[in-house]
Order: sequence, then structure tokens, then C-alpha cells
Amino acid sequence: MSVQLQAGPPKGEEVKEPSMLKQKALIAENYEKLTGARESGRKVASTYVPGNLNELILCFDMLNNLPEINAIQNGMRKKSGAMILEAEKRGHSEDVCTYVKADIGMMAKGNIAPNGKPMPDPDLLLLSYTGCFTFMKWFELLRDEYGCETVMLHIPYEGDGRVTPNMREYVVKQLREEVIPALERVSGVKFDIDRLREHLRNSAAAEDDFVWVLQSAKNVPSPIDAYFGGVFYIGPIFTAFRGTGEAVEYYRVLRGEIAARLARGKGPVTPEGEMGEEKYRLVVEGPPNWTHFRDFWKMFYEEGAVVVASTYTKVGGVYDFGFRHDPDHPLETLADYCLGCYTNLNLPQRVEMIETYMNEYRADGFLINSIKSCNSFSAGQLLMMREIEDRTGKPAAFVESDLVDPRYFSKANIKNRLESYFQMIDQKRQGAASAAA
Ligand code: SF4
Repeated sequence: MSVQLQAGPPKGEEVKEPSMLKQKALIAENYEKLTGARESGRKVASTYVPGNLNELILCFDMLNNLPEINAIQNGMRKKSGAMILEAEKRGHSEDVCTYVKADIGMMAKGNIAPNGKPMPDPDLLLLSYTGCFTFMKWFELLRDEYGCETVMLHIPYEGDGRVTPNMREYVVKQLREEVIPALERVSGVKFDIDRLREHLRNSAAAEDDFVWVLQSAKNVPSPIDAYFGGVFYIGPIFTAFRGTGEAVEYYRVLRGEIAARLARGKGPVTPEGEMGEEKYRLVVEGPPNWTHFRDFWKMFYEEGAVVVASTYTKVGGVYDFGFRHDPDHPLETLADYCLGCYTNLNLPQRVEMIETYMNEYRADGFLINSIKSCNSFSAGQLLMMREIEDRTGKPAAFVESDLVDPRYFSKANIKNRLESYFQMIDQKRQGAASAAA
């Protein structure tokens, strides 16, 4: 374990744990591979985070480019604002998901990857349609732009809150008859199901350690922040690394780091330094804001607020209720994975999930970060908030921001709301204490 963890980082100094450095290296290497794809002869599939078929893509020696991740990277580097304006200049409305506009704007500005080199045009647009209509419209725009082969895996919505055998078979049939033939055609590589099994075995191993990390937040104090820290923990498993030996190694190292923090009774590591006393335990719904990610996290850090569970860390796969990729049923397991993504769950399922988190993670409150341009998450959030308050008796609150559009992050507003919310939690606690006395 690192000396850094044993000694404790100085206050205010950004901490880089070995797992973070490992992840940074993985991402950098992937961008090098992507931007070098034309020289190396590797084919590139563009696809989305929810429902991504990384294990399958790996079977065809293809590289995986995720436009949402490019938008996040540009958001965190404060470059997305100009890209969004560029897309709006080209006629894309203010209400459109800002990941889409950041992507379109990035393309218009030369499609430069975070490593400063131009991205190659994709050879295949691989759309797993998991509950968000924007995914479809987005790839229609890209298809017009690139004119490359496009294949869609249609995932039936869990409208009744369950997966039927028919739904699973429908997805498997598309994998067999549409998706795999398209991947074979584009890559020139023949499908080998044993190769897929091997990648799925790696996925399951990484998923075990990932879930252990998420569930470590049931401890008091929690050794992790499952929202702000959580977005780093989901990185490899939700993107181009699930199914690889590198991801297995990353989660093994991460688990070791968290286990060491837990053993010492430490709270999460934040960019401002180690979290002091854990005063509030929260469950958070909705994606984070990326353009002011550090400012946003700092507001929680300063109040001693730790997020113990979040729905956003389930957007690229829900693993903490038992699902694991299963090498013995390779295509069926890919179908189950896609069907179970958070964006494909109905509102009652989402409410149940949040209620479970509130209880099992002993949360003091429920907070929604409502994203202006993400309809997939935002629809029904007020209803969810009321329902969680009714079911748990814990106070809930609502703040608003955006994904990668810096115009919609009002620092003073959000800070004010959070401060009043923490006061509300204090009052509830005092009320409960006096009632018990
Ligand atoms: S609307 Fe939301 S879920 Fe859909 S692509 Fe945009 S961010 Fe993702």
C-alpha cells in the first residue's frame, strides 16, 4: 500500500492514489491507440457507455471510442463550453443533451482527442439502445457525418419492471444476426465464442471487486465517496477496459486501497485532501456536473458530507444486486447486462433501488442533482423525491446543473441550497433526538 495513504496527504493537496494513476495511464494509452488506429490498422467502433458491448468489441481486435467519455474529458478540461456554442451555431437547440452538442462541436473543431491528436473517423457506429432516445438521434447525426456502417441493438425497456425470456431471446437474436455479423464484416475477424468467454471471465472478476468497493460505503465512516469518488471507480468497468486483464488488476489494486482505508477507519480521499469527520451520509441521484466537478465536490467536503450510494454509478451496469457477466452463457449474459442498465429501468424500480440504498447505507438524506439536458435521468425526479421522503422519513433536496455546459452551473445557488439542506438534516436529527428523549 502506498506511503501516501499511511502518512495521510496534506490538507488541500490533491491526492493521487496508485489506482488513480493506473486509470490515468489506461485512459491515456487508449487515446494513443485510438488516435494511432490508422497507422496500426485497428478498426474503431463508436458506442455508448450504457449497454456497451466491450467484451464483444475486444473479440474483433477493435478499439472502443465512447463519445460520452470524450464529452466528459472536454468538460473537465473546460473545453466543452466552446464546443457546445459551435454546435448551437450549427442549429442544435439549447435543450439538446450537452454530451451530443459537445461531441458535434468537437467534430466541427477538428475532432481533436485529449492527447492533442485527431481522432480517426469510426468504422462502425454500434448503438446499444438502452432507454434513452437521444442515443438514437445522436448516432443518426454521426451516421450522416461519417457515412460508416451503423448497427443498432434494440433493448426492450423494462416497462413492467422485469426481464422476460422473450426479451432476452430478442436481444440474443439481434446479437447473433445483426451485431456479430456487422463486427465480422467491419473488422475482417471471425467471431470466436471462447474468446468472448475469456473476456467475460475477466469482467466478472473485476465486477466482484468493484461491488466490494461500492459496498464498503455501508461502513460508518464510509471509506469512499460513492458519487464523486465513484465516477473514478466506474471508469474502467464502464468503458473500454471491461473484460481486460488491466481492468481486473485495476479493481484488485483499488480494493486493496479501500480495504486499507477501512482498516484505519479513514474517510474518502478528496481532491482537497482527506475527508475529516463524516457528518452527513447521502444518497445521490443523477449525473454529476463535469465543468465544475471539483468545486461541486468541495461543497460536500467542506460540510463533511459523504455520498454513500449513487444511481449514476449504475448507469453503465447494475452489479450490486447480484448481476455478473457469465462466461457460461455468453450472449444471454450480454443481453441481461444491457436490459439491466439503470437508464433501462422504470421509475418504480429506480425508487426501490434508492430506497434500498437509503436503508442499507444508513443515509441521512437523499439529494437529486437534476441535469437540465438529460431527460433520461430527469423525467420523474420530483416524484421520486417525494416517494423517497414518504418511504424513509428522511429529508430530500433538489439542485440543478448540467453535464458539460458551464452556463448551467450556478455555484452560489447550489452552495446556498446545500447549506440549507444540511441545516434541515440537523433539525430533523434534533427533532428525532428530542422525541426519543
Ligand atoms: S440524455 Fe442523458 S442518458 Fe441520454 S445521452 Fe444524454 S446524458 Fe446520456
